[in-house]
Amino acid sequence: MIQIDSLHKNFGKNQVLSNLDLEIHGGGIFAVLGPNGSGKTTLIKSILGMVVPNKGSITVLDKRIKKNWKYRQEIDYLPQIANFPGNLRVKELIRMIKDLRQKESKELELIKLFGLEPYLDKKLGTLSGGTKQKVNIVLTFMFDSPLIILDEPTTGLDPASLIKLKQLILQEKNRGKTILITTHIMQFVEEMADEIVYLLEGNIYFKGSVEQLMTKTKQTDFEHAIAAISTQTADA
Ligand code: ADP
Repeated sequence: MIQIDSLHKNFGKNQVLSNLDLEIHGGGIFAVLGPNGSGKTTLIKSILGMVVPNKGSITVLDKRIKKNWKYRQEIDYLPQIANFPGNLRVKELIRMIKDLRQKESKELELIKLFGLEPYLDKKLGTLSGGTKQKVNIVLTFMFDSPLIILDEPTTGLDPASLIKLKQLILQEKNRGKTILITTHIMQFVEEMADEIVYLLEGNIYFKGSVEQLMTKTKQTDFEHAIAAISTQTADA
């Protein structure tokens, strides 16, 4: 699904990704984790073609992505901060994204799932953070792409909506989709992720299941296992 070889990215003197190799097979939920500033967003933006690497190659769905942007049609992306004009109404935004992507969409089902009917005529600027996030989730999941990338998808969601989001993600996984998620919520990772990709100092420090990470760090719970990585590397 995704193959990354010898990826380098620096911003000026700041080497963010250094000789990074990563292979993600199709199907399943992958959590991209790592301390703040470890390069998670840079890696995801490189896969999306929003950051241009200095060196290395990225293949998505068997195609080299360099100067070949068509592959983006096969990705549904939920950005961490989606800034749309505040005077746009929810239904106008959904229409606009549909027109832009020109793909079949199932927005009605998702609007119903998240109870967004009363907000369709409201301007985005008047919505709460959580409601905006639900709208963004609809925009992401309404298309049927094989690769879904979610940057902090739980932000601002109430418990009922969080359950719906999890169901939605699992449903897509069961349909064979590949889902890449970044999040700071470790409980979410423990519950949802098939594999963890842990970034540290510009490279992949660990790739494997929650159980494998606990074995590697000799911890019995996941939160401590994640915390142990930073202590272990600090000791090293
Ligand atoms: P993470 O998502 O893991 O918190 P990022 O990928 O956002 O990390 O950032 C990694 C490093 O790259 C940070 O030091 C950040 O300051 C730097 N960085 C990210 N984007 C840019 C940019 N557009 N210009 C300059 N530096 C950047």
